[in-house]
Amino acid sequence: MIAKLQFDAAVIGGGIVGGATALFLRKAGLSVVLIDKGFCGAQASGVNYGGVRRQGRPPEQLPLAERSHALWGQLRELIGIDGEYIRSGHLKIARTAENFAKLEAYADKVRPLGLDLELMGANSVKERLPWLTGDVSGASLCHDDGQANPRLVAPAFARAARANGATVLKNTPVNAVEATGSGFALMVGGGTEIRSRLLFNCAGAWANKFAEALGEPIPLTRIYPSMVVTEPLPFRLPFSLGEEGGGFYGRQVARGNYIMGGGRGQALENPDFSRPSVMAASSVMQRAIDLFPHLQHAQVIRFWSGTEGEMPDGNPVISASTRIEGLFHGFGFCGAGFQTGPAVGAVLCDLAVNGATTTPISAFSIGRFTANHLNHEAKKGTA
Ligand SMILES: Cc1cc2nc3c(=O)[nH]c(=O)nc-3n(C[C@H](O)[C@H](O)[C@H](O)COP(=O)(O)OP(=O)(O)OC[C@H]3O[C@@H](n4cnc5c(N)ncnc54)[C@H](O)[C@@H]3O)c2cc1C
Repeated sequence: MIAKLQFDAAVIGGGIVGGATALFLRKAGLSVVLIDKGFCGAQASGVNYGGVRRQGRPPEQLPLAERSHALWGQLRELIGIDGEYIRSGHLKIARTAENFAKLEAYADKVRPLGLDLELMGANSVKERLPWLTGDVSGASLCHDDGQANPRLVAPAFARAARANGATVLKNTPVNAVEATGSGFALMVGGGTEIRSRLLFNCAGAWANKFAEALGEPIPLTRIYPSMVVTEPLPFRLPFSLGEEGGGFYGRQVARGNYIMGGGRGQALENPDFSRPSVMAASSVMQRAIDLFPHLQHAQVIRFWSGTEGEMPDGNPVISASTRIEGLFHGFGFCGAGFQTGPAVGAVLCDLAVNGATTTPISAFSIGRFTANHLNHEAKKGTA
């Protein structure tokens, strides 16, 4: 016999985006079910680098990132833990004059949008990080950006949603979904049918499956950022550090381990999943040693990769459906959705409860792809 459950809102995906969405919907008084095929927070949201930065984002993402910045500041009230979140500052270094000019241009562009970056010359960088090796032309520091432990933060959003009254179904894949005219019907693992008035597609790198099933196919591809962590070493790196044009980033946690990223893992036969590549890990380590000489003899104790959704224009989809009332999408964060995740949950809740949001999100509409897709299909039809 099929068990049937009824809710105001069903959220597919228990990562930071789905967890935050469920939490805000509960706070708004809706009955909510949050469904994950595995453990909540075990995919990208729980295995990422832990960078909580606004610096470096395209200008259209800054209002969203700013709203999230405020929510990160209230993390303990929101999810009951601090998640090792600290506003350590995010330092972006440039190793050539050309790259420093890019940092200067970016700082000029985002200043009117409220993001103040401190530009510093080579001497000033050396004063703050005297052990840094190699050529450094300058850097840009965002004082209030920071870092957190994704392993702690990501599942805590789903736990907080549950503590606020959401039903959380883990190890429960959503196998099929359809619009019924008055809402949605979801067939989930264990033979349960869930009915809801509202549906939130927060399924991360798997969200294309649900968008397509509901008539909005989108060009999401999967990427597999890869991470390395060393043994604990004496504390020297107070910032989360990135390299302009270099693709390398690293931070040192209070207990001394360096966490660093930059390479890509390899897709498995089933491209939903990946494994870290030894080449990528050793190239990250080599780039780290070029900057941090004290890592020359450091032991790498773990390396891993995660599965993330990427969109062709580098922006996520945060949007009401253009086709079906009551359907909302939040996915495709292109390697940078940990910082914005809490605000994405708040925005999706705004859209569902108030019909609008004060956070500018027009650049993230799903319509920018579905319109293209429809044009493309029409052209194919007339060829
Ligand atoms: C290695 C790595 C490093 C990164 N570093 C940073 C960083 O430093 N800063 C930053 O801001 N961002 C970073 N990111 C990006 C960030 O982690 C993601 O953008 C963000 O976590 C996306 O959150 P999400 O909730 O959308 O996705 P996810 O965390 O992937 O959650 C989606 C959930 O949907 C579930 N799901 C999928 N299909 C189904 C189904 N059929 N039924 C039920 N559930 C389903 C999955 O199990 C998963 O738990 C990084 C990503 C990776 C992989």
